[in-house]
Amino acid sequence: MTDYTALRDRLTGTLATRDQDDHTAGATAFNLTIQHDPDAVVHAADEADVVETVRFARAEGVPLHLHATGHGAHGAYASGIVLALGGLSSVAVDPDARTATVGGGTRWADVVAAAAEHGLAPVTGSSTNVGVVGFLVGGGIGPLARSHGFGSDHLVAARVVTGAGEVVEASAEGDAELLWALRGGKTGLGVVTEVTVALSEVPSLYAGTLFFDLEESTDPFVRWVDWTTTAPADVTTSGLIIRFPDLDVMPPPMRGKHLFALHVAYPGPVDDAERLTKPLRELGTVYLDDLGPLPLADIARITNDPTEPGPGFVRGATVAHVDRDFADAVLGLVGPGSTLPIMGLELRHVGGAMKAESPATDAVGFRDFEYTTTILGVPDPALFDEVLPRALAQAEQTLTPWLSPHLTPNWMPDPYDAEQVARTWPAAVLARLDAVRRTHDPDGVLAR
Ligand SMILES: Cc1cc2nc3c(=O)[nH]c(=O)nc-3n(C[C@H](O)[C@H](O)[C@H](O)COP(=O)(O)OP(=O)(O)OC[C@H]3O[C@@H](n4cnc5c(N)ncnc54)[C@H](O)[C@@H]3O)c2cc1C
Repeated sequence: MTDYTALRDRLTGTLATRDQDDHTAGATAFNLTIQHDPDAVVHAADEADVVETVRFARAEGVPLHLHATGHGAHGAYASGIVLALGGLSSVAVDPDARTATVGGGTRWADVVAAAAEHGLAPVTGSSTNVGVVGFLVGGGIGPLARSHGFGSDHLVAARVVTGAGEVVEASAEGDAELLWALRGGKTGLGVVTEVTVALSEVPSLYAGTLFFDLEESTDPFVRWVDWTTTAPADVTTSGLIIRFPDLDVMPPPMRGKHLFALHVAYPGPVDDAERLTKPLRELGTVYLDDLGPLPLADIARITNDPTEPGPGFVRGATVAHVDRDFADAVLGLVGPGSTLPIMGLELRHVGGAMKAESPATDAVGFRDFEYTTTILGVPDPALFDEVLPRALAQAEQTLTPWLSPHLTPNWMPDPYDAEQVARTWPAAVLARLDAVRRTHDPDGVLAR
C-alpha cells in the first residue's frame, strides 16, 4: 500500500485518495460508461506539482495517468495516480509573433476566444471543449483540416516534465527530437505543462451546416460524397448522418428527424465562399440552412458537438477512397430503413494541407487517407457489452473495401492496442518514438 502523505505535503494543489468520498471529482471521463477508480487523484496547481507527482510515482513504482478534460479516456484507470491538469489553464496570445502559449490543461475554447480578438485562429478540433495538448499529441483534425493541415503541424514548442521528473524545453532550439515526438506521437512522452502553437490569420470564416432531410431524399448525401472527390482544396466539409431522438430535450426542427448534416468551413472572403459552396446548396432541398459568415470565436458552432458528458460507444477509422457504392453502403448502415443500433455516422473529408507536411518533422504516422469516419452506436449502456460491439464490427466489415489500413491517433479506438498501434505509425516512426520514450521515461512511469 502506497502512503501518499509525503506527496500531499509537497503539493500546492490537492490530492485525494480512494478512501475519501468522491475522490475522482474533477477527473472523470467524458464518456460516462468509464468510471476511474485510481488509488489517488492529484489536482496539480502548477508545474512544480507535476514534477513532485512524477518523481513520487517513479520512486514508488506506481503508474501515472494523465487527465486534462477526460475527452480522450478510453478505459477506466483502476490503480496508480491520475494527474489532473485542469489547474494548468492559461492563454497568452502574442499577436506580433502570431502564437499562443497555453497551459497544459487548457481547453481549445479559451485559445479560440483569445486569438479571435486579434483576427487569429488556432487549428482546433470540432469540439473546443477538448484539451489543447491531448488533441495536438494525437495529430488533431478539425474544421480547418484541408486548408491548414493537422493541428500538430502548428505546434511550435512545449515545456515537458519527463517521466524522469525533469523539465525539458521541446523546441527547434531545445530538444528537437521531443518536439518531433509530441507532434503526433500521442502517449508516454511526458507531461506537457505549456505549449506554444502558431496561430493563423483568418480575416473571415464562412462556415456552418446545411441540413437535408433523409426521409425525403438520400440524394444529397450521395451527391456530396461524389462532390468531395473534386472539392476545392481550402473547403473542409464533413457529413453526419444522424437520427435525432424523439425527446422533449431536442429542439423542434431536429426532434425525431433523420438528417444529413453537412458541416462546412472555408477560411476566406464571402464572395469566394458563396461561389465555392453553391454546389453544396444545390445538392437537394435544404431542410435548414445555417451556413454563412461565422465569427472566429464561434468555430465550435459548426458541428455543435455535445458539451455535456454522457455514455458513448463509438468506433473510428480512416477511409482511403469513396465512390457511389461507398455512399450506398453507408446509407445501408445508417440511412432510412436500417434497423442496426447505430445512431449516426460521421464522414470527414480531409486530405488537402494535411498531406503537405514532411513526415521527417513530426510523428504523425500516416497522411495518406482522404477521410475519417466515426460510427456512433445508440448511447444505451445496456447494448454496450454485446449488441454494439457486434453491430459496429459488422458496420466496419461492410465498409472494409473503402477503409484505409491506417489509423490516425485521435481516431484510434484504443491507443494501447498493439495491432492498432502498428496501423497508426510505420515501424521506423514507432522505433524512433520508443527511443524518445526510453530516453525521457526510462522506468516507464507514464502509461504508454
Ligand atoms: C466530443 C469529442 C470531440 C472530439 N473532436 C475531435 C476533433 O475534432 N479532432 C480530433 O483530432 N480529435 C477529436 N477528439 C478526440 C480528442 O482530441 C482526443 O481524445 C484527445 O486525446 C482529448 O484530449 P483531452 O485532454 O481533452 O482528454 P483527456 O482524456 O483529459 O486526455 C487524453 C490524453 O491526452 C494526453 N494528454 C492530455 N493532456 C496532456 C498533457 N498536458 N501532457 C501530456 N499528455 C496529455 C494524455 O495521454 C491523456 O491521457 C474528440 C473527442 C471527443 C470526445
